[in-house]
Amino acid sequence: MVRPVKPARRRDGRPGPITRYPKDPEKYGDPANWKYPVHTPFHARAARRYFNDPRNRAKYTEPEQAYIDKKINEALRKFGVPIALGPSATEPEAATIQADIPINKDIDAMTLEELLLAFLGENRLASARHIPADQVHVDKESKSLISGSVKEYSVVIDIAGQRVEHDCVDFRRNRARGKLLCKHLGAFSLRIEPKTATALLRRLLHERDRWTFE
Ligand SMILES: [Zn+2]
Repeated sequence: MVRPVKPARRRDGRPGPITRYPKDPEKYGDPANWKYPVHTPFHARAARRYFNDPRNRAKYTEPEQAYIDKKINEALRKFGVPIALGPSATEPEAATIQADIPINKDIDAMTLEELLLAFLGENRLASARHIPADQVHVDKESKSLISGSVKEYSVVIDIAGQRVEHDCVDFRRNRARGKLLCKHLGAFSLRIEPKTATALLRRLLHERDRWTFE
């Protein structure tokens, strides 16, 4: 085993964080050069794919490669992404939505019902509908932020920051496998104004690879 060493600053490294990416260098596989961002499951998987390319690996010494591998793998594990960890492992394109979503369907033409089905699947949508109305609370509903709670779980949808924050186990466990919403978030979507919910879910579907789910 090679002892990991943090990559040195390079002349061709980025001068700073990528626009709209984390400003914390620790969220990058190569912090000194702002490369290989690993702050979301999508980006961690992408980092794994790019860093598996021998041409990209060759730019680093072996101990530096070990460092970047370690950072990427830690992120993948944190997000619960099942993956073979070796540098030779190949990772298919990140699948970030239920398999049954109609690929050729125009997202902007999808109804709220269709959107919820795509995000939740039939069984979870049914569970979402079974959550009693008095257990779903919307505290704030503005253009940039929607927040509240479902049962004992909090919900924050930060539209401006492209971030969904929710703390149930199902959400945490499944998001890395592309199931972005749980029954609570489904129930929450059903509670907010239908027009707002439809716009939000369409946007989530369009921009799903750019949003953070945590
Ligand atoms: Zn939940």
